[in-house]
Amino acid sequence: MNLNYSYRELAEVWGVEIPQATGQIHSVSIDTRSLTEGNGVLFFCLKGKRNGIDFVREAYEKGCRTFVVADTDSIPALEGAVFFVVPDVLKALQKLAVFHRRQFDLPVIGITGSAGKTIVKEWLYHFLRETYKIVRSPKSYNSQIGVALSVLEIAQQHTLGIFEAGISTVGEMKSLEEMIQPTYGVFTALGQAHDDGFESRDQKFREKSRLFLNCSGVVSTDYHFSGEHLKNSNRNEVIVEESGNKTFLQVENYGTFYSGLSGRLELDNLIITLLTLREMNFPSDQVQEKLNSLPEIVMRMETVAGKNGNILINDSYNMDMDGLEYALVRQKEIAGDSKRVVVLGFGEVFRGDINAVRELVGRYSPDVLMLCSKQNREGLLSLEEAEQLLASITEATILFKGSHKSGLAPMINRLSLKHHQTYLEINRSALRNNLGYFKGLIRNGARLMVMVKASSYGSGSREMADFLENEGVDYLGVAFADEGVELRKAGVELPIMVMNTHPAAFDDIIRYRLEPAVFSVKQLDEFTRTLILHEKSSYPVHIKLETGMNRLGFVEEELEEMITYCKSQPEIRVKSVYSHLAESDNPDRSFTQKQIERFVRNANRIQSALNYKVERHICNTSGIVNYPEAHFDMVRLGIGLFGVGKSTELQPAISLKTHISKINRLQPGETLGYNREHVATKEQEVAVLPIGYADGIHRIFGNGKASVWLQGNLAPIIGNVCMDMCFVDVTGMKAAINDEVELFGIHHSINNWATWAGTIPYEILTSLSTRVKRVWLD
Ligand SMILES: *Cc1c(COP(=O)(O)O)cnc(C)c1O
Repeated sequence: MNLNYSYRELAEVWGVEIPQATGQIHSVSIDTRSLTEGNGVLFFCLKGKRNGIDFVREAYEKGCRTFVVADTDSIPALEGAVFFVVPDVLKALQKLAVFHRRQFDLPVIGITGSAGKTIVKEWLYHFLRETYKIVRSPKSYNSQIGVALSVLEIAQQHTLGIFEAGISTVGEMKSLEEMIQPTYGVFTALGQAHDDGFESRDQKFREKSRLFLNCSGVVSTDYHFSGEHLKNSNRNEVIVEESGNKTFLQVENYGTFYSGLSGRLELDNLIITLLTLREMNFPSDQVQEKLNSLPEIVMRMETVAGKNGNILINDSYNMDMDGLEYALVRQKEIAGDSKRVVVLGFGEVFRGDINAVRELVGRYSPDVLMLCSKQNREGLLSLEEAEQLLASITEATILFKGSHKSGLAPMINRLSLKHHQTYLEINRSALRNNLGYFKGLIRNGARLMVMVKASSYGSGSREMADFLENEGVDYLGVAFADEGVELRKAGVELPIMVMNTHPAAFDDIIRYRLEPAVFSVKQLDEFTRTLILHEKSSYPVHIKLETGMNRLGFVEEELEEMITYCKSQPEIRVKSVYSHLAESDNPDRSFTQKQIERFVRNANRIQSALNYKVERHICNTSGIVNYPEAHFDMVRLGIGLFGVGKSTELQPAISLKTHISKINRLQPGETLGYNREHVATKEQEVAVLPIGYADGIHRIFGNGKASVWLQGNLAPIIGNVCMDMCFVDVTGMKAAINDEVELFGIHHSINNWATWAGTIPYEILTSLSTRVKRVWLD
């Protein structure tokens, strides 16, 4: 956020007393978890599960000095803190958003409807982002709070806004309309039913259409109200024809385009996107090219193969009526003529009316409907009952829908067909904790780059990048261009530095807006020539300096030539200079200090030759901890994010788990596995685990070298590790088939494995093979 409001202006917006203290705020926060540096942040104490006021102290400790509280809250005495006391904190946040929006005169697209809002928003962004500087709602931030936060992101440089508005009952759209003030309206209605919050279909459409009150144009695939008049949809202005594996869309007064998309929902979204482009006079001759590279928007809905020949659709992320209808349509598409089962899980906070849900689902007449709740609510099944019933269902398409607190996820996991019982679990809340820890260490507002190379140290770079983007890190770093391309294709928007580039990848680098690191003049020259072909100027590059690793990087003697080159080529702009520390975790600091000195000297030389600011960075994880004086403009976090490090504040964020496949009883003299390396000297219970060296559990771990954690015991790996299996001694541990086993994680540190193998945790993580399923926990 880039706000600049004085205390006085704020007080005037809300019509409350002007505080005696003076000052400015530059951003707002509603959540202490995402707050790293509170200086200049205005904290809104919203009423949630816990009262916002409970967080005041926490925010205060993070440097926050301005708070908006309700007049019923008891205000703690904190030195230097300024409290704006308002009747309703949410309304105050919204008023500020309305005020902020009025400062800008830019076109804004407002999107509402039952389904597809986020996809249409992201697709419009894809088409328009080279024509406009766009501000848009992150993900599906479309609620009363989300819209306010999105609108507050508008800044001077933006030339177009794209915002989503989602409502569930009458009266909610008014405040969203006031904040968004759209100039173009987009209505992505699915509209087969009316929601629980509305009396009728008309009422729902009338309410949603309120968003378009002041729009110069509205695009819709359903009927809607424009002004007070009922308008028909624009759906019939597009003729859709399928031919081979292509779908042709003929858009009236615009052009004919083709796409590989074919599902009804996807085509509806595409139609509305094209109609909106037409409404905005986007040049029709640029449509097809961009259509060819339409990003695949990762929806939460996930389809997996289940046991008993079932197909499981997992949409257990949130429980809202719009999403439910979308999921029901999708289920019908997937199921075709086969049996359909709908399982709905209700958490403790479902505000809607369960009967309305029943009615909505009824319209799609599934063969079986199960409503369940882990709180044992009256009239609903318990999760156990639901799971029992599901166990007897075969050859069906089963839709699971519920909030992520509904407890459906573990059940879905059990019902899904797993060929492999081994998985790497990545825990977002531990990652968040660790990220917070490092953010707290960073000095002088230095920015944070997170290294996500090698599939983010083996954890899965898409999920990680998505997570990091949400957590507000500034930069990502990858090793090779392909890794960056994958992230862009997944919709990641953060700047991405690519450390090792090759001329063959230069086209991709430019096409996917990646920022190369360069370490020779030859490379710089080749890249510049590609930039000229692409007609790009001031393209960001990062200069890698050699300071002691003797790996890649410009050595001192090459600097002059590099500087001369950079000065003479307007195509490139040196975004940063950086170097890498060879032993930032060594208690002997002398070599690292020499590296830092050399870095500063050479960075100064480059900076003084260029007439713009060049950033500098040198610290990796242990550099961040041990050399705060060298944080400069940015730091590059890697392994620390996973909780590998010395501080007790770090939490292990990554665990490798498997399950016992079988238990054998060895008699004295019997042997185990290949080469019969292990010979039982007494009676022994041995568990077989479905994980072997092809998964990354190297042979070196066998024959007693390593051990796994099993319900409080450490069970040694015995015998030789096989390709897909290994053995552990579980004598006297009361182990049973299917018991969970932790190879490393919270109970059993990955550092132990590194020690046993004579290596470092990095190598253990990155040598886990891709067949180990990655499972991300919230
Ligand atoms: C991998 C890498 C990092 C991160 O290192 P960690 O020790 O994992 O924090 C930082 N900088 C560069 C250049 C790297 O290659």
